[in-house]
Amino acid sequence: MTTKQVGEFSVTAVSDGMLYSNHDVILGIERVESERLTGIPYGQPLPLDVNAFLVRHGGKLMLSDAGSGHTMGPTLGKLPQSLRATGVAPEQVEIILLTHLHPDHSLGLVDEQGRAVFPNAELIVHEVEAAFWLDRAPQQNDSERITRNTKAQRAVTAPYRDRIRRIKDGEVLPGITAQLAPGHTPGHTNFLLQSGSDRLLLWGDIVHLAAVQMARPDATLVFDVDPQLARATRERVLGWAATEGVVVAGAHLGFPGFGRVVRSGAGYGYQPA
Ligand SMILES: [Zn+2]
Repeated sequence: MTTKQVGEFSVTAVSDGMLYSNHDVILGIERVESERLTGIPYGQPLPLDVNAFLVRHGGKLMLSDAGSGHTMGPTLGKLPQSLRATGVAPEQVEIILLTHLHPDHSLGLVDEQGRAVFPNAELIVHEVEAAFWLDRAPQQNDSERITRNTKAQRAVTAPYRDRIRRIKDGEVLPGITAQLAPGHTPGHTNFLLQSGSDRLLLWGDIVHLAAVQMARPDATLVFDVDPQLARATRERVLGWAATEGVVVAGAHLGFPGFGRVVRSGAGYGYQPA
């Protein structure tokens, strides 16, 4: 099932494709431990789904995250065709809820010519995230990765310049609440959908590798802008999701990426829904 009904929301997973990562991106735990948890030996690629979510509510067509576009090789950038396969043209998307501005979530905003792929969409991005990637003067001690991503984020959001809504925490659209969940990026944001007693948490990159980071929330990634804050946020959100039994939708939780978090030993486990 790629569509989940959440009260009056309908949420459909749409694939951008597959990212092939490796054990070297995982920090903070022993290599033997990441091999054991993934069941994949060191040196072999770690496959990672990249999902976006189409949200229909109150006659509005929204998308959470925009895929990677043409920037990350032939196994990715499939979001526009996945959308069309569900009967939706990119031109119909009215709102894009950005969990954060990282390449696999945002570079698909533009095509190879730099034109808006979603010409009628308003971008919703947390003000903290926009301040870091879009509005901040470059700093001397910025890493090469941050410098490169900053340039890329400014370029892909440029065609949307006049329709970027910088939000704070709280209700941003009827039934949709933004919650800052920082660390992976400074303004990484979860969006909680709520309709009647049904809820679903769009949690972006709280967890990248479920097999590793559910059991070991202390495992961080080289892509985390602030690894220790990412870890603290992950522990907080996992604890909340497990206690509440809420359905989560993750960009990298396999496809379609809907599931629940359960407590397991000293850490957590993941149950695909
Ligand atoms: Zn990601």
